[in-house]
Amino acid sequence: MRGLVFTGVGEMEIRDFPDPTPGPGEVVVDIKCTSLCGSDLHNLHNPNLNRDLIMGHEGAGIVSAVGDGITTVKIGDRVALYHIIGCGKCRNCMSGYVQFCTTDRRALAGIEHGTDAEKCLVREANCLPLPDDISYAVGAFIGCFAGTSYSAMRKLNPNGQSVVAVFGLGPVGLAGVAFAKAFGARVIGIDGIAERLDLGLKMGCDEVVDFREANTVKALKELTGGAGPDCIYESSGSMVAQKQALEAAAVHGRICMVGFNGPMSLKTDQAPSLYTMIGKELTLMGSSIMPRQYHYDIIDLIRKQNIDLEAMVTHRFGFDQIIDAVRLFDSGRTGKVVIDL
Ligand SMILES: [Zn+2]
Ligand SMILES: [Zn+2]
Repeated sequence: MRGLVFTGVGEMEIRDFPDPTPGPGEVVVDIKCTSLCGSDLHNLHNPNLNRDLIMGHEGAGIVSAVGDGITTVKIGDRVALYHIIGCGKCRNCMSGYVQFCTTDRRALAGIEHGTDAEKCLVREANCLPLPDDISYAVGAFIGCFAGTSYSAMRKLNPNGQSVVAVFGLGPVGLAGVAFAKAFGARVIGIDGIAERLDLGLKMGCDEVVDFREANTVKALKELTGGAGPDCIYESSGSMVAQKQALEAAAVHGRICMVGFNGPMSLKTDQAPSLYTMIGKELTLMGSSIMPRQYHYDIIDLIRKQNIDLEAMVTHRFGFDQIIDAVRLFDSGRTGKVVIDL
């Protein structure tokens, strides 16, 4: 089988690997879709990456082989992949919070081979059942960034009286826009790239703010009658945006941050001040991926509210073009980029 490896900083290669054989408790999935994620780009530019590992962690496909002791999936099943592999036995794994496994936490494209390949070896517990009416692409999304966005939106818990400001209109932000709309909120998106502002409107933003042209905090206050948004979803990882989120939030506002953006080198006067949090009695939350059981809730919401997560896909490629796809995605000017196999 073929798989994508990052051979150096900014360098890639499609390599041949032996087809995986499932051991006890393991499953081989023939990948039908793998989607590119911001963290793939962090890997692409990481000088300390494992150069032998297949990249990609957002995947979905068909089970093609099972090892001994598998009871919940069978050959031919459609599955989405949850990309974190836990021990299955610690307190966090047992409650579905596999991403916080304390004893043996691994990740696809982190310690194990990933989904940018024709086949992927996972544990049974990584297979999320994918109903026929949910596409492989959406399945791949749920296992990572869409699950992240949904889990954060559950924490913010907006309703029809809420204004949700979404900082950053990359895929993580765009899924946040779709879910905030599905929860009934008015949504304001913030970004500085024209293509992403357009995608924000397409995914359901009622208004967008271009931070190249407007003072973001002032604009958010003006759009909310001076009060500021009561819910803020920060997906960019920019420390400037984190500071603006605290400044713009309404009194008693709730802020959920999910963005990481590598090392920061900002002056201290640009760093967020938590005094703002005290002064406005804000609730500041972080959110990391999703508990595995949200898979069902996300599918329910997608069906009930007719959410089209694939509307954020701007480019689709075959596996042969995956290197071009990663280069294009690295430009930062695309929506979601998907590889169909
Ligand atoms: Zn991802
Ligand atoms: Zn565990």
